[in-house]
Amino acid sequence: MGLKLYDTLTREVRDIFPMDKSSVRFYACGPTVYGPAHVGNFRTFVMQDVFRRVLETSGQSTLHVRNLTDVDDKTIRQSQEEGIKLEDFTAKWTTRFQNDCGLLNLMAPHVEPSAVSHIPEQIILIERLIEKDKAYQAKDGSVYFRVEAFAEYGRLSRLADREITTSDNVREISDEYDRDSAADFALWKARKSEDGENFWDSPWGEGRPGWHIECSAMSMKYLGDSFDLHSGGVDLIFPHHENEIAQSESVTGKTFARHWFHVAHLMVEGQKMSKSLGNLYTLSDLAEKGYQPQEIRYLLLSGNYRQSLNFTFDSLGAARKAISKLTDFASKIDFEYASGSSLKDDFGPFYPVQEALLSDLNTPEALGRLFRLVRELTEAWNRGEFKDESDKVKSLRNGFQSCLDALGLVVKSKSKETIEIPLNIQDLAEKRWQAKVNKSWGEADQLRDELLSLGWIVKDGKEGFELAKSD
Ligand code: AMP
Ligand code: ZN
Repeated sequence: MGLKLYDTLTREVRDIFPMDKSSVRFYACGPTVYGPAHVGNFRTFVMQDVFRRVLETSGQSTLHVRNLTDVDDKTIRQSQEEGIKLEDFTAKWTTRFQNDCGLLNLMAPHVEPSAVSHIPEQIILIERLIEKDKAYQAKDGSVYFRVEAFAEYGRLSRLADREITTSDNVREISDEYDRDSAADFALWKARKSEDGENFWDSPWGEGRPGWHIECSAMSMKYLGDSFDLHSGGVDLIFPHHENEIAQSESVTGKTFARHWFHVAHLMVEGQKMSKSLGNLYTLSDLAEKGYQPQEIRYLLLSGNYRQSLNFTFDSLGAARKAISKLTDFASKIDFEYASGSSLKDDFGPFYPVQEALLSDLNTPEALGRLFRLVRELTEAWNRGEFKDESDKVKSLRNGFQSCLDALGLVVKSKSKETIEIPLNIQDLAEKRWQAKVNKSWGEADQLRDELLSLGWIVKDGKEGFELAKSD
């Protein structure tokens, strides 16, 4: 049985399979790197991670691309307010984001492209749209996509049913722009004084790309004109993903993404957790209150991704108890958590957990089944049913590991001597891992030496690293 997942475009639960018969190629809209990501953002990133983990623990390889939005109104405005060059400003928040991802045990994407590093690719797409008369340059020098030239516009978000007009295209609206139709959205924004030094040359003069074209260019560059799945939080359905479909399909004439996966919001007292509402919590806010990243990850998994989830400290408390029960079970079966191992389809007695995950990523059901099995297997263990049966014990431990791998939870046995890793050491090691992922070998070596001088050795596995004391 393979993964079945709800598709926003067709409103159906559909099979996930790789169109090239090899890897499931998928794109995740990444963070806007202008401040720390909050745990609402991480609900979406954690569910994208679970999507990948569930595929990989069922033997399906993946190609995961997640971008960094490092040029848009917000990054430019904020970097200028702080008087820092855009690239230095976004580098700082990118590192913070990647560290937080490491703490939450998110698998690093195979490719993590940034918008600023892909300006030529975006310009080429815009040129092709103009050639096809799907886009035009307006009097203000900006280039707009002609929405009426794409008959399918609005299919993803059911625009016609929702009785909203395309002028809800808020992230693009600005009175200074001079469009043929209010619905048209910017592909290229002509340079304005408030952009400061943040502009690039183009056939239409100096300016910068619009947000939507960034994701079309980066996804198609690394995944091809057509790929298996595209994803983000539900707020991205309109206009961002609608616009991505329109501009990409207008260029290629092919289906852009075959499947659309959207995660409902994390809420606080009935409102979406968001920076603009000021009701957010970051990982470090919660760390200051004594909560561990694994407890936060557990909380984010505790609701079905198709329904909004309320963030409360009671549910964080419940997550803490749940993790502690799993730790007790790990200790009972003398379980050794294998980090950095490649993910395996070895659920054994825990097969019902995998089944729930394959059924539209039903994480609350999977967790419910995990706890039922943990209770039953603990009782069986206490009755002596696992005594001297090495194969049975092995399959129990492997099955537990597969569950943790699929959910991305890290649970270690208490009986093993656990080494406390100081936060600054963990941070340095995360930074080094990211430098390696980004192929910044010099920086990675320097960080390894720094860790060594602080008394820690890093050992690399395929999916991550381990830290050990050097003495
Ligand atoms: P941003 O950094 O604003 O571009 O958002 C990064 C990702 O987080 C996008 O996929 C958003 O849709 C998602 N997101 C933003 N707020 C929330 C929330 N409260 N709950 C779940 N996902 C969110
Ligand atoms: Zn995007």
